[in-house]
Amino acid sequence: MKIANCPICGLPWAEAIEEEELRCSFWICDCCGCEYGYDDYPTYRETWIRQGAPWFNQKKRPKNWNLEEQLKHMIVNWNA
Ligand SMILES: [Zn+2]
Repeated sequence: MKIANCPICGLPWAEAIEEEELRCSFWICDCCGCEYGYDDYPTYRETWIRQGAPWFNQKKRPKNWNLEEQLKHMIVNWNA
């Protein structure tokens, strides 16, 4: 399955990627800062939100960013 948003925070990507490819990519999300294949777990999301959902890469944060809107695109049970 191809996915086009960070499964943890819902950040949209420029291109969709195969799920399996993502799992072994060890990329770090610009938004939530999780590392795919390492700490991309629901508990990571919970902690991140509890901390006020800080952007890992502040430069990429859109001015009118809306967390609630973005979270609609997460995959709730990813690695649950
Ligand atoms: Zn993310």
